[in-house]
Amino acid sequence: MMFPTTIAGSLPKPSWLAEPDKLWPQWRLSGDDLAQGKLDATLLALKLQEDAGIDIVGDGEQSRQHFVHGFLEFVDGIDTQNKVEMGIRGDRYKAMVPVVNGALTLKSRVHGTEARFARAHTTRQLKITLPGPMTIADTVADAHYGDKIKMAMAFADLLNREARALEAEGVDVIQFDEPAFNVFMDEVAGWGIEALHRAIDGLTCTTAVHICYGYGIKANIDWKNSLGDEWKQYEKIFPALSRSRIKQVSIEAINSRVPLKLLSLLEGKDVLVGVIDVATDAIETPEQVAEVIGAVTQFVPKERIVACTNCGMAPMRRDVAAAKLAALGQGARLARQKFG
Ligand code: ZN
Repeated sequence: MMFPTTIAGSLPKPSWLAEPDKLWPQWRLSGDDLAQGKLDATLLALKLQEDAGIDIVGDGEQSRQHFVHGFLEFVDGIDTQNKVEMGIRGDRYKAMVPVVNGALTLKSRVHGTEARFARAHTTRQLKITLPGPMTIADTVADAHYGDKIKMAMAFADLLNREARALEAEGVDVIQFDEPAFNVFMDEVAGWGIEALHRAIDGLTCTTAVHICYGYGIKANIDWKNSLGDEWKQYEKIFPALSRSRIKQVSIEAINSRVPLKLLSLLEGKDVLVGVIDVATDAIETPEQVAEVIGAVTQFVPKERIVACTNCGMAPMRRDVAAAKLAALGQGARLARQKFG
């Protein structure tokens, strides 16, 4: 099928599970109730995506508090209790981050429970997301390795273990989220892709990397406003991604200042084109969605285009997210009629 649809990753959580409208919500349940609530929310997320006509569905990241810290919770060698303040994403904003204080190992499986549950409840292709090694390395303080690259490679090995287990459980697409890729452009070709290759080593399922300009939070919006009219940062990293062994690249397109012609640099890759803006509550029309897909066909072969959201939807209102998912499904259908 032409122009299949998917989501970047997260969906808002029900307010009985976690505080709404927050990027970093507190859970509202605990113990066994929390464990069950996460799965109940996963089922809702799957149903919502299926009804909206999303072809490659995800768990909506309902079981994790945050896309990086949800992984770190399962890692030994890191102190998540005594966080320190650090400037992250090239000092774009300050965050309280955990400290790596020993050799990194996995305590247990990370996303096995929700992945198996999701697999049992949908016949569609299933995608699970993991944070990328460069982004993790930029979200923790290091008091052990003394070398950012060495530490990133250690995280890549842990990601690889989890990814292999997810593949064995029937996950079809494993995506690594690397917002740090548009901050440390020179390091992407240097070691960022090498770290990703380590994370996907031995996988035969579809692999993807999501790069983006971040959620619609204030620090990101201010930063985006400082970047000028045309965002050409990707010119540096797309050729390196094109040469990589990652099969899919997810990037934002709608309402973005990334010139679409840059997408032609991603030769040989499936491109997950963001056709839904997560930085505004305005609901896209199917016509708008189809128009972006049509514009991208000038630069990416049709059969390589997947319609997607610009980024995760975690901090959005649920009704807005649901309406945007429906627009995504309808817009891709319209694009198939017009350009398929
Ligand atoms: Zn993103």
